[in-house]
Amino acid sequence: TGLVVAMDGPSGSGKSSASRGVARALGLRYLDTGAMYRAITWWMLQRGVDLSDPEAIAARALDPVLTIGTDPDAPSVAVDGADALAPIRTSEVTAAVSAVSAVAEVRRRLVAEQREIIGAGDIVVEGRDIGTVVVPDAPVKIYLTASADARALRRTAELEGTTVQAQKAAMARRDTLDSTRRADPLTMAADAVELDTTALNLEEVVAEILRLIKE
Ligand code: C5P
Repeated sequence: TGLVVAMDGPSGSGKSSASRGVARALGLRYLDTGAMYRAITWWMLQRGVDLSDPEAIAARALDPVLTIGTDPDAPSVAVDGADALAPIRTSEVTAAVSAVSAVAEVRRRLVAEQREIIGAGDIVVEGRDIGTVVVPDAPVKIYLTASADARALRRTAELEGTTVQAQKAAMARRDTLDSTRRADPLTMAADAVELDTTALNLEEVVAEILRLIKE
């Protein structure tokens, strides 16, 4: 592997902004693996796949054709040729994605596609299992955290029509689903550097990660 910066952590930890910022600063590509799980979820919702049935999800896991861009300044996601950039951020998809991402067939497929993209050259990769599963030998592994309040506050600022309390509850629910599932629970890699972003702004987070990369 070349330079792979594995950026893991829960939602609201500042992962996306920090990952794009680091990629921009170093002229690297950027891969948002959460967008891939969201895109499959959006496709399944549109087709009426019963997301309470893991076997129904597994049966369709290979059907949607995904295309994802790696330019940190021009994000793009398409499923079966249809632009998915906006729809994958809806609350419907956010509420359903944990059920889809828990299915082994979905993970196997997406991890293989992620490794293929990563293999093409230097890149910053954002997700939950990058340092543990997707690229366990990544030379740089960062695990971003932030207090529950800070995470909920950031998410609320990004979304419309929601409250900090509602976001805090929704994020706690998703974190529990993501971290307690039986196959591949999402955890921090033993050799990752944990960075608490609660008291840092984006510029400070990016600067600290650039410092860690240079070490
Ligand atoms: O990071 P983001 O909030 O977009 O991720 C959406 C969901 O996709 C997560 O809640 C998790 O269920 C799943 N995910 C995953 N593995 C990754 C990235 C995301 O299971 N590497």
